[in-house]
Amino acid sequence: MDSSTLCPCCKRILKKAPQKKTKCPHCGDSLYIKYRPGEDASKKRLVGSKEAAEIEQDWHRMSEIDQQIRLERQLKDAVESRHPRMIALAKVAIARHFKSDQVTELEREHSRLSIEEYSDTSFVAYLEVNAKEPRCCAMCKALVGRRFNVETALNECVFPLEGCLSDRCFAWVSPVFQHEI
Ligand SMILES: [Zn+2]
Ligand SMILES: [Zn+2]
Repeated sequence: MDSSTLCPCCKRILKKAPQKKTKCPHCGDSLYIKYRPGEDASKKRLVGSKEAAEIEQDWHRMSEIDQQIRLERQLKDAVESRHPRMIALAKVAIARHFKSDQVTELEREHSRLSIEEYSDTSFVAYLEVNAKEPRCCAMCKALVGRRFNVETALNECVFPLEGCLSDRCFAWVSPVFQHEI
């Protein structure tokens, strides 16, 4: 007998091999159609709730590993490019991924380097603060639309700001070029 017609839990006969998530009419366990990472999708089979949870965990671990490989590659590329802001950005991504307590510090480093990128160009008229409202706190919101030169921006616009009232504020400076004004 095809094992797909047996409940993987109680081993009793299911009249019809399930094609999607269902419940065993005998033992009441939830039944899923799943396959493990590394297996061919054609290996999909009927599993009980316990094995389904294990398989889900495997998939989760797999995507964690994928994500870590992607972050490492991003950092490696940035280091090879010798671009300080790209290196800082890659470090921010890694710190965020591992929920490091260095995140804020690294974000500020990236913010500082972004501002400094405009210091040696005569094309930039000024830097203007932008933010993703309405999530921003009052303190960050108060800066939106204000204009700074590079030097003052390095004092006042290194985000996230010291004393920012939310950890969700997302603000940055963008250049306004001479020819745009
Ligand atoms: Zn059953
Ligand atoms: Zn804020």
